[in-house]
Amino acid sequence: MTFIDLRSDTVTQPTDKMRQVIYNAQVGDDVYGDDPTVNELEEYAAKLVGKEAAMLVPSGTFGNQVSIMTHCRRGDEVLLGENCHIMIHEVGAAAALSGVQLRTLKDKDGELIISELISKLRGEDIHFPDTGLICMETAHSSGKVPSLFNMKEVYDIAKKHNIPVHVDGARLFNAATYLEVDVKDITQYCDTVTFCLSKGLCAPIGSIVAGTSKFINSARKNRKRMGGGLRQAGFLAAPGLIALKEMREGLKEDHKNAKLLGELLMDIPGVKVNLEDIQINMVFFDMKETDINSQALGDFFYKRQIKINGDENGIMRFVTHHWVTEKDVNYVVETFKEALKALKQY
Ligand SMILES: *Cc1c(COP(=O)(O)O)cnc(C)c1O
Repeated sequence: MTFIDLRSDTVTQPTDKMRQVIYNAQVGDDVYGDDPTVNELEEYAAKLVGKEAAMLVPSGTFGNQVSIMTHCRRGDEVLLGENCHIMIHEVGAAAALSGVQLRTLKDKDGELIISELISKLRGEDIHFPDTGLICMETAHSSGKVPSLFNMKEVYDIAKKHNIPVHVDGARLFNAATYLEVDVKDITQYCDTVTFCLSKGLCAPIGSIVAGTSKFINSARKNRKRMGGGLRQAGFLAAPGLIALKEMREGLKEDHKNAKLLGELLMDIPGVKVNLEDIQINMVFFDMKETDINSQALGDFFYKRQIKINGDENGIMRFVTHHWVTEKDVNYVVETFKEALKALKQY
């Protein structure tokens, strides 16, 4: 039996079909622009999100950072939510690579507060940095999806002040699935967007940046500067095409399994889940009132072929994905109950 891996949706292995298309992919040298499979993926991806052009990059972090580098000049200020990935989980890259200053706004699970956004736009004073970019994130790392209304409000203000908007849409298709909208209904409220092929969509490696042709042309140069000019990248683009064409539909199932997992966990004494917060494939819960800690639970699970992460400030996160079935969800919950019984005796 293989492991049930609830640590993230980044752990998803490529499907058999993906392995086949990798083997058979037609490739060229993408730095010369003549890898036909990369070109096909970039065209398909751009259309899918309603933008003129798109570019394959090695990771979501890379996509966000090349976007910041392309939108901004050194010393510019970037406005973004205080809990977003670019702020917390990208190793300070915006400062290190692009020399920009990040200025955080309070956010409600990814939704920016409009009055605060307006108050933090910079004026003309000679002392001030220029506001070079506004970033949003959907789905947010809290597992929640900002409303289209909030995204429109942010975008309208940005346009009024001539400031570009970048959306970190690592889980963009999860967001569209939750909102039951076409993904273009989301991306109409940004100038550029990054999304991951390598999370719930199961591709092994890669993310996409999309925007205007002019933007993507400049971004290609910055991608090269950052060491992201890949050669026979068609081997990554081929499973990427499968991800976008065939795997989006499956996200519904992942969301359903997350809901089920949340509901079953809620029945365990001492475990607190807020069911309304389960919008995509992530289940957050609090187990402080059980007698066991996350390390002990993790060790117990591991011996029973389940991988989980430890808690973050007392909050646990389980993530469902293509390789987690309804049966697995039931097994996880049964094993959780066993763990409580077994570990409480000490
Ligand atoms: C996963 C993720 C990224 C990018 O992650 P990589 O591991 O660099 O591909 C960016 N933003 C958010 C919100 C994410 O969840």
